[in-house]
Amino acid sequence: MDQTYFSAKVEKRVSAIHGRGLFARQDIARGEIVVVKGGYVMTRAQRDQVSLELGPAEIQITEELHIGPITSHQRERGMMHLNHSCEPNLGLQGQIVFVAMRDIGAGEELTIDYAMTDDEPYEMACDCGVEACRGTITGHDWKQPALQRKYDGYFSWFIQRRLDRTRGGES
Ligand SMILES: [Zn+2]
Repeated sequence: MDQTYFSAKVEKRVSAIHGRGLFARQDIARGEIVVVKGGYVMTRAQRDQVSLELGPAEIQITEELHIGPITSHQRERGMMHLNHSCEPNLGLQGQIVFVAMRDIGAGEELTIDYAMTDDEPYEMACDCGVEACRGTITGHDWKQPALQRKYDGYFSWFIQRRLDRTRGGES
């Protein structure tokens, strides 16, 4: 049994965005669960150690914790291959459940915006190809008000609760 769950409606294929990607084999309706990310829960220090060998293969689930594989065998089976897009079609419910944010057609690549999951210091060029591409993405893009509005309800829980608290303070 694999640590990560994939809907029967998806498959991994070569991506035009980067490396391999996850694609819809058939139509997926808004709200459907597409992937549930599994693995070992690691502190950031443990993650840093594991990633020396495995590279980036995990996702952040709280301020200090990550979930992902710890061996190359687990990595191969459990990688979601969800590329970043500045116009993604998946979002999060909780921290590990990825759902369709809109109806998705067969053949479409499944993508997330790293702004939904990441709160870490990094910066990299984005080549996702959509018209609204930000050009550069950083590990702190969740702080951008426009993205907070765009992905409200689809951020990873630890980010979403910060946004909810901020709003609670305004009322
Ligand atoms: Zn982009």
